[in-house]
Amino acid sequence: MDKGQKFSIWYFFVAMIVVWLFAEYIYKPYAESRGEVPYSDFLADLETKTIENVDITENRITYTIKDGKSPDKRPIVGGVIFSNKKAKTPDNVKSVVRLTDPFLIERLASADIKFGGIAQRDTIIDLFMSIMLPLLPLLIIWYLIFRNMGGAGAGGIGGIFSFGRSRAKELQGEITGVHFSDIGGAGEAEVELREIIDFLKDPKRFDKFGAKLPRGVLLVGPPGTGKTLLAKATAGEAGVPFFFITGSSFVEMFVGVGAARVRDLFDQAKKKAPCIIFVDEIDAIGQSRLHSFNSNSEQENTLNQLLAEMDGFEDNNGVVIMGATNRPEILDQALMRPGRFDRQIQVVLPTEEGREEILKIHTKKVPLAPEIDLRAIAKVTPGFSGADLANIANEAALLAARRKADKVTTNDFDLAIERVVAGLQRKTPLTPEVRKKVAYHETGHALVACYLPGSDPVHKVSIIPTTKGALGYTMQMPTEDQYLVAESELKTRMAVMLGGRAAELLVFNEASTGASNDLERATETARRMVIEFGMSSALGPVRYAAPAMMYLSGATQIREDTGDATAETIDGEIKRLVTEAQDHALNILKEHEKVLHEVAETLQAKEVINNEEIQAFVNKEKETTI
Ligand code: ADP
Ligand code: MG
Ligand code: ZN
Repeated sequence: MDKGQKFSIWYFFVAMIVVWLFAEYIYKPYAESRGEVPYSDFLADLETKTIENVDITENRITYTIKDGKSPDKRPIVGGVIFSNKKAKTPDNVKSVVRLTDPFLIERLASADIKFGGIAQRDTIIDLFMSIMLPLLPLLIIWYLIFRNMGGAGAGGIGGIFSFGRSRAKELQGEITGVHFSDIGGAGEAEVELREIIDFLKDPKRFDKFGAKLPRGVLLVGPPGTGKTLLAKATAGEAGVPFFFITGSSFVEMFVGVGAARVRDLFDQAKKKAPCIIFVDEIDAIGQSRLHSFNSNSEQENTLNQLLAEMDGFEDNNGVVIMGATNRPEILDQALMRPGRFDRQIQVVLPTEEGREEILKIHTKKVPLAPEIDLRAIAKVTPGFSGADLANIANEAALLAARRKADKVTTNDFDLAIERVVAGLQRKTPLTPEVRKKVAYHETGHALVACYLPGSDPVHKVSIIPTTKGALGYTMQMPTEDQYLVAESELKTRMAVMLGGRAAELLVFNEASTGASNDLERATETARRMVIEFGMSSALGPVRYAAPAMMYLSGATQIREDTGDATAETIDGEIKRLVTEAQDHALNILKEHEKVLHEVAETLQAKEVINNEEIQAFVNKEKETTI
């Protein structure tokens, strides 16, 4: 769009306001006050019939005295009398302030003179003003809101002109300075991005071979896996400008603004090609229309604009569009069509090796005690994302700094992991009764895990409340990254989940509310086993779950066409699985009740115990029973 044109419209508008203000408040009073006479003079002139004609407006009467000269015909603009002679008013024209005079018309009629009213709003400017002026406050509010949103740039008049300018950071695009060496464990994604980098470095070369590059690259993966970082590194490695916008920033916008920003962003980027446009959290605008319950037309406009811009690109024009999302399944299919985001790159949670690399990167500037083994830390943190690990490294450094130590120790890392996992420790003590219940509950989880073959080993049990509201927690560490889980493993997990409740039932003969989250998880597991994985003998290998995209909440939903009898069977099967898991846990704890008491008591005394300590009690029991 032509920028100059946008400017002149605004200048014109401002000029109109200035002219109007001048006319209304300076010229009009001045013009009217010329030749002004008291009302009594007007009446006297009426009496003496020396008046030739009278013009009546809402609050003024202008009249001409008969003295031979023709009354001037002056244009009247907005209630303002502009003299076309540009000279002083002829002496025979007089004006008075119109008083409330019920007899005015009678008087004029009996005086036998020409009179008439003057329509006050009869010009184009007036009409324009009467439309625009009420809008003025709205425009001002609109402007203020945008400024507060941090968008429209500098204040003052200049800010007004940047309406609709995209919020992309730095319109010349950022030179990120991020490199692949700042990213750990993303080898495969890096390999795929290499091609893009080669292209950005020398777009003409690709042109020569007639090779077409993907226009849009979508990075897909869980939060914190470094998608944003990868996009920045792609720009950094290629040494091209990086234009950044976040999908969620469009959602709050007013109608039309989101689309205007997208348009502007692409215009700016095209001028800077080769470059990268990165749309973070693209799901916020690219949500499938099937999916958004509160259909947001602004979101839709923005999405449509984005699609239109992508379609409007010539091939290899040097602009690569990257997007990132952690919910690809909810994206509008239109985004994935050829010529749009036609390439997806999966960014996965890091492997053990990757985790070690990431820890290395984030401890580069941290003084580490010589005994620290980053590989060992990587071993106990499966499932952690890059962001989690960065968080742990930072937290460990903070702890060391707080101790005023000069090196970060393994213990700092242990505490840091715990904090990241469980939230910061809270120091409000529980009453002894509650502590006792919590201790037995957590010990129940831990022991069921210890005694069931194939369950993840317990790393640590704690009855220190967390800021997230848990009264205690049992931390298990998966021994390896898991991709496939067997039926027996699911059953084991359920038994461990219900171990806390089983311990409470066994020791206190009643359950407490503390197990409600455990029940929820166990029930959800059983439900998925039955309707999603076909693991119920009564129902067979049939999927009764609705497609995942249909779930309103996180919970798995049953297909709508499931018959009543089947639904009943499903409920029965879920109940059976959960009950069996609880019975299983109860039996284990009954069998090892002595260990349960020993561990629970130690836990009450120490608040935290680790795997070795629990194992010591387990081994002692083994020795005595043999
Ligand atoms: P995403 O966009 O996938 O949610 P980010 O790129 O925003 O993740 O990552 C957040 C932070 O986590 C990064 O700034 C970085 O410090 C850290 N991080 C994430 N993944 C990695 C990684 N693979 N290597 C190094 N640091 C990472
Ligand atoms: Mg991100
Ligand atoms: Zn529990």
